[in-house]
Amino acid sequence: MRKTTYLTIDDGPTENTIRHVNYLKSRSIPAIMFFLGSSIERQREAAIYAVKHGIIVGNHSYSHPKFSEISFDEATLEIRRPEELIDQVYRDAGCKRMYKLFRFPYGDKGGANKGKLQEFLRSEGFMKIDPAGITHPAYYESQLDKDWDVYWTFDYAEYAIPEGVGTPGQAGILNYTNAMNLWTGGSPLDQSSAEIILLHDHSTTEMRFPGYFSELLDYTIAMGAEFKMPGFVRSSLQA
Ligand SMILES: [Zn+2]
Repeated sequence: MRKTTYLTIDDGPTENTIRHVNYLKSRSIPAIMFFLGSSIERQREAAIYAVKHGIIVGNHSYSHPKFSEISFDEATLEIRRPEELIDQVYRDAGCKRMYKLFRFPYGDKGGANKGKLQEFLRSEGFMKIDPAGITHPAYYESQLDKDWDVYWTFDYAEYAIPEGVGTPGQAGILNYTNAMNLWTGGSPLDQSSAEIILLHDHSTTEMRFPGYFSELLDYTIAMGAEFKMPGFVRSSLQA
C-alpha cells in the first residue's frame, strides 16, 4: 500500500507559484497553499491562478509575525485581513470557496493567547484537517488534532538546507530534512503513517537549489508516497 500524504505549501504566492501549480497539476498532486495576505497583494494573478487550477488556498496571516509576540487584537487583524483578500481571490477566479483554513507562521500558536486564539478560529468558522485521516502518533501526543489551525507532522525544512549538501531529490537531502524533524518523528519515507507534510514556496530556496520543489516531490513519490486531499471538519459549536 502506498503511504497517504497530504501536501501543504507555505509562504506563497511568489513569482514561482504558477510554475509550482503547473507541476502539481502535471503530477495530479492535490495541495493546500497557505498564502500570506501581504504576498497576495503583490502576486494577485498567481493567487487567482492557483485557485483556478484546483489548489485550496489557506490563510497564513497577513505579515508572518510570531503570534506569541503580538497582542490578541493584532493577532485577530493578522487573521482577518488575509481572509478578505482570499475571498476576493476566489471571487476573481470564479470559484466557490469551500474551506476556511489557517496556519500559524512558525507553528507559533500564540503563547499566552493560545486558548483565546483557538476560540477565535473556531467561532470564525475555520476548519481543520479531519484527524481521522492522520495516523502519525505525535500528532495526537501533542494534541494537535484538537486545534482549529492546520499543523503538520513533517516539515521538509528545505529552506534551512546548507548549500553544498547536494541537489534536492537526492537521498542526502531527505535524510538531512528528516534529521531536522526528530521532534515529531515524521517522515515522508515512513510507510506506516498518514502525514501532513510541509514544503515552502521560497524564492531564496529556488535561487539556491533551482527546481527543488518538483525534485523533492518527485523523490517523495518515487519512495512510495501517494498525495491525497484530506477531509475537513468544522466545529459543530460554531457561533
Ligand atoms: Zn510561514
